[in-house]
Amino acid sequence: MEKIVALCKRRGFIFQSSEIYGGLNGFWDYGPLGCELKRNIKDAWWRDVVQRRDDVVGLEATIIMHPSIWKASGHVDSFTDPMVDCKTCKKRFRADQLCEELGLKLESVETPTGKQFKLPAGAKCTACGSDQLTEPRSFNLMFKTFIGPVEDVSNVAYLRPETAQAIFAQFQNVLSCARQKVPFGIAQIGKAFRNEINPRNFTFRSREFEQMELEFFIKPGTDAQWHEYWVKERMKWYESIGLPASKLKPYVYKKEELAHYASACVDVYFDFPFGSQELEGIAARGNFDLSQHQKHSGKSMEYFDDETKEKYLPHVVEPSAGVDRIALALLCNAYYEEWAPTSESAGSAPIPAEHGKQPPAGFESRVVMRFAPRIAPVKVAVFPLLKNKPALVEKAKEVFHLLRSQFVSFYDEAGNIGRRYRRQDEAGTPFCVTIDFDTLGEKGPEMKDTVTLRDRDTLKQERVSIKELPARIAEAVK
Ligand code: ATP
Repeated sequence: MEKIVALCKRRGFIFQSSEIYGGLNGFWDYGPLGCELKRNIKDAWWRDVVQRRDDVVGLEATIIMHPSIWKASGHVDSFTDPMVDCKTCKKRFRADQLCEELGLKLESVETPTGKQFKLPAGAKCTACGSDQLTEPRSFNLMFKTFIGPVEDVSNVAYLRPETAQAIFAQFQNVLSCARQKVPFGIAQIGKAFRNEINPRNFTFRSREFEQMELEFFIKPGTDAQWHEYWVKERMKWYESIGLPASKLKPYVYKKEELAHYASACVDVYFDFPFGSQELEGIAARGNFDLSQHQKHSGKSMEYFDDETKEKYLPHVVEPSAGVDRIALALLCNAYYEEWAPTSESAGSAPIPAEHGKQPPAGFESRVVMRFAPRIAPVKVAVFPLLKNKPALVEKAKEVFHLLRSQFVSFYDEAGNIGRRYRRQDEAGTPFCVTIDFDTLGEKGPEMKDTVTLRDRDTLKQERVSIKELPARIAEAVK
């Protein structure tokens, strides 16, 4: 992870928020490459979940909503994590995570006012080893603010801890305009905020993050089929953005782990360097949310089925994913250390680096980010072979402008070609195009207007005509 964090900073994927003031724990900024990566994740999700389907429409709601929404959803009363403090070293933990690290299980008992937690025997501080821990206390994760100038309880509002609730609150408005019939879905991408007790593992657990959520409304009784359908769809989607099936695992909730209203839940886990952890949760939530909003708002949330002439509260299947966790999974998955031939035109392939050893003669170390071309921040880099030859520079800029109209492209003329390749390897750019004297026709007319197209992973170089370039790249990144 340290190497990945360092690369993220060096190459402009991810920076600590407010770094010049010492940073802010749990908050992260995305640099030039990181924001392209995130945008590609969101675009891929939006295309596949919304635009390429007939049965899903989009929504973009506000971050601050009527506080009654969070009362109805249960977040005001029970969106809490159990917190413990070490009385010796003053470190603060999430009690369930602390127990998990110690191989213990946090005990809980249902009481009329909600769950109460108890530390099991053997619990101790994982930082200093002391057994002087406070009893777990519930801590509400929602960030509070005030609407208007008066900081009064009647003006309290919350930053949304998830994007999903707005979808339920706007269910009738969307239904009345979207010409959709159950089964259909409403999707939203946006920021969510949770005042996490212990943000950690780089961006994995942040206090401000982005979610991509779908509420897929279904006829009661069809929950199991639709849940299974969406688990399959979502697993396939992760593979389509380049995460290998071998590192993805569905975690199927046992009956006793489900929320009282849920009939099924599967989390998609990814093998991070810090362990296998959740990217997305796919839950069959029954009609819990719509019925809560119906009760609290006094407005009907029912759906009228034209065919059966019945009225009912739709059930829902909810795939809920985190953009930042997916970005982190892609970064971890893409990172490779290799030995690459010093002169790439020699045609040798890269070999995996051996830990603690020097590369053999004729090879040098490289770090390469093997993003799937579809998700790579920059698709193609264009280089003139030499920057002090105006004819090469002019031609390279012409090719750059041609490609830039279709793909995120990067122009670079600084340093020798090898250095420029290495920079693009670390950025994860799948293609590099070099304009040389052959392109100008200096070796004869048959080479004129051809360039070398270099593949990031195999280092193979091919001679391709400028005319064919856009189609070649488009095919790889679609
Ligand atoms: P956890 O158990 O890890 O706290 P959760 O199960 O409460 O997460 P959900 O409420 O199911 O998470 O949220 C759906 C998705 O939102 C998660 O799968 C994750 O991708 C993302 N997410 C939730 N909390 C965070 C966070 N603090 N930082 C980054 N992403 C998050």
